[in-house]
Amino acid sequence: MIHAALPRPTRTTCPYCGVGCGVVVDPDGTMRGDAAHPANEGRLCSKGSALGETLGPRGRLTHPEIKGRRASWDEALDLAAAKFAEAIRVHGPDSVAFYGSGQFLTEDYYVANKLMKGFFGSANIDTNSRLCMASSVAGHVRAFGEDVVPGCYEDIDEADLVVLVGSNAAWCHPILFRRLEAARKKRGTRIVVLDPRRTASCDGADLHLPLRAGSDVALFNGLLARVADSDALDRAYIGAHTANFDEALAAARAEFPTVAAVAAETDVPAADIEAFYRMFVSTERVVTLYSQGVNQSSAGTDKVNAIVNCHLAAGRVGKPGMGPFSLTGQPNAMGGREVGGLANQLAAHMSFASPDDIDRVRRFWNAPNMATKPGLKAVELFDAMLAGKIKAVWIAGTNPAVSLPRADRVRDALRKCPFVVVADCHANDTLGFAHVTLPARGWAEKDGAVTNSERRISRQRAFTPPTGEAMPDWWMFAELGKRMGWGDAFGYSKPADVFREHAALSAFENDGARRFDIGALADLTDAEYEAMEPTQWPARKGAPAGGRLYGDGLFSHPDGRARFVATPFRAPVEKLDAARNLTLNTGRVRDQWHTMTRTGGVPRLSTHTPEPYLDIHPADAARAGLADGEFARVESRHGATIMRARVAGDQRPGEVHAAMHWSDANASTGPVDRLVGAATDPVSGQPELKATAVMVMRQPMAWHGLLLRREPLAELKSDYWCRVAIDGGFAYPLAGIEPLAAPGETPDDAWVLNKLSPLATPDLAVYADPARGVFRFASFVDGALDACLFVAREAASVPDRDMMAAMFAREPPKEHRARLLAGVPLDGVASAGPTICACFAVGRVTIEEAIASHGLTTAAQIGEALKAGTNCGSCLPELEKILRETAPAEHRAAA
Ligand code: SF4
Repeated sequence: MIHAALPRPTRTTCPYCGVGCGVVVDPDGTMRGDAAHPANEGRLCSKGSALGETLGPRGRLTHPEIKGRRASWDEALDLAAAKFAEAIRVHGPDSVAFYGSGQFLTEDYYVANKLMKGFFGSANIDTNSRLCMASSVAGHVRAFGEDVVPGCYEDIDEADLVVLVGSNAAWCHPILFRRLEAARKKRGTRIVVLDPRRTASCDGADLHLPLRAGSDVALFNGLLARVADSDALDRAYIGAHTANFDEALAAARAEFPTVAAVAAETDVPAADIEAFYRMFVSTERVVTLYSQGVNQSSAGTDKVNAIVNCHLAAGRVGKPGMGPFSLTGQPNAMGGREVGGLANQLAAHMSFASPDDIDRVRRFWNAPNMATKPGLKAVELFDAMLAGKIKAVWIAGTNPAVSLPRADRVRDALRKCPFVVVADCHANDTLGFAHVTLPARGWAEKDGAVTNSERRISRQRAFTPPTGEAMPDWWMFAELGKRMGWGDAFGYSKPADVFREHAALSAFENDGARRFDIGALADLTDAEYEAMEPTQWPARKGAPAGGRLYGDGLFSHPDGRARFVATPFRAPVEKLDAARNLTLNTGRVRDQWHTMTRTGGVPRLSTHTPEPYLDIHPADAARAGLADGEFARVESRHGATIMRARVAGDQRPGEVHAAMHWSDANASTGPVDRLVGAATDPVSGQPELKATAVMVMRQPMAWHGLLLRREPLAELKSDYWCRVAIDGGFAYPLAGIEPLAAPGETPDDAWVLNKLSPLATPDLAVYADPARGVFRFASFVDGALDACLFVAREAASVPDRDMMAAMFAREPPKEHRARLLAGVPLDGVASAGPTICACFAVGRVTIEEAIASHGLTTAAQIGEALKAGTNCGSCLPELEKILRETAPAEHRAAA
């Protein structure tokens, strides 16, 4: 919602993923991709295209509160300062902590990091980036001597082979995937996908290896041996620019002497492994893109190094069209790494391992209480909180009560902490544990910088007034610092002040040893900062900015050599047993972001994947007695939940998958991280979110239902429910375990209403068939439909959700109540089916009808007929899939 016409277009950056697409907001509030931004050249994905629909006051925090009571900023910040000061005085600096977010702008990160590490005297500042790419950071530091992504997005355009490892880029980094598809069309770039699941990224790939969860190291150790035995081995490069090759190769060979040994560990046919190895060794221009499937693992750092080892052995790092490439999940995970936003990092790519670095940062900050050792990483931090060691915590821009593993234990920890500050834009699950809540400015309201996966710094610019009394996070941390007696060090008045200091620190006593150097930006005027174009680092004073790094073979280790790292294979920590015989993998869906605080209220983003499904292979479903659409009880050693099963051949046998977006606020399922164990990588501290042992059982339901309302509900008295945003309101699929009436009794509509009461009752139309257990209600306000509820013993007796949602959107008047209660469509109302193209809100049914009636055979033809797939292209793999599935049988056979 834009409150006033803007004087001119505003160029800003999408807040969702690490691709870092540029967005232009026109004076009338419409948004489009920024054609001048190098990351996206004008394109936006489905989430980016719907950014304008996520703005507005719904769910926003508008003013500070102390224990639920409205408070002034002064009162809230004074209290926070007093509590943090007291904890430090009585219990020492390590008794306090900050837990931040990849949503922070670089300026937010910088001030928080400076306050904690330079002035509080502790390094207990970690962020949800720990869940995202900490393993890549650790792998880079081990291999290169610094957390540097050597390549840039042009490498995807210029590669002849792209290997996607643990990355469903088609859904999670869609604009980069479009770039990859373009390269495929232009130069025939081949694509190999290494992923336990057959994802949208596999459509059109040359090869998909559905490797067993957590077995990536085995595959890449085998590849290292194959490279060593091939012409791809670059002995000269290894000799001149690296160390430890022989040790790493010997370790790899010892465990995986043959492809058969790799095949046994990965559970992939040896012939397919051979095919992948042949492609890798015979193609010089190889980019290996990797993401959470690599990072979110108890062996994540080794996975990263196993990949980097193969590129180093072939001398393929930092050169056009080749190199290992970590895709960051969050929009500013990379910016956080620049300022040392993780507990084990010092600022500006300096290290706690170096006394010189610690002293350098201390002198630059004129810091009175410089931390000298790493702090607690995310999982350790909440464990320490549960143990009573953290007396005051400040959580900002993240929802750990949902997103951390063993989420219930995290909630216990928060309950136990004597003082909890939560600063956020939106109400979330963590807020319930706060003593002080602070309203943060959100995207569209705040100003600062973000850095994307290819090291490109872009500006996020404000274009709407703040909501209520919301303030930026950097300002809150600076105010905290001032109130604790460090006014000089935190006297910033605007983001440009913070950015200049951050840039100056990167160049401080930096003779080139630290590749992260943006000293050229340290003297920007306010106007230059305001106008700053996307800039790739390094940006040293007096040198051209950007480009690839390490292409010259000169790395950041003191001797200039990269390190091969021996990576002995380790299986995931949680072991399967007779009961817990399936491995739970967690991930994302195409159109939702994080815990749905932004995207969950947008109808066109909600129906592609409307419910928190458990994806399960047909063979495993059959063993559990589960049919598609039935309910499953899922139990791990850490928690249990009920989910609707989606039987999918795309799933590996023995492994199930659930998305991480849903929380207690929008589904009875609650956070899937409640089920996930907290085993962490020993180097990076990143938790293993993709390999939890679970048992899956059929959960019979005694009744099923559907509720549609204009306003959302906080909770429902139903064993299963979830919230789906629809045009004009919200839909809630429901199901209950207990029968509608006690044995021997006949259920009645009063019982149903009493149990699921959220209807305005004065003007209520009721249809009840107690014998069949069918109850239908429609409530009207001012003669128009306000809510309706359908409950039935049999799922088939509940009307179709999409069709009812289409009727609901029409706001039908009361005279249609008979048709409403019968679930008969109004004239001209038809279900479009689940949304396939979110940009133009085109549903599957509409697409299938167009294919059938016009004889469409290509995605381009569907685009001409319906516009589907013609904007961001995120749905193109699904359009291709629908075409395959709906093709006449003889065509399918021929294909
Ligand atoms: Fe945003 Fe999509 Fe671009 Fe990611 S790919 S930055 S979500 S528009």
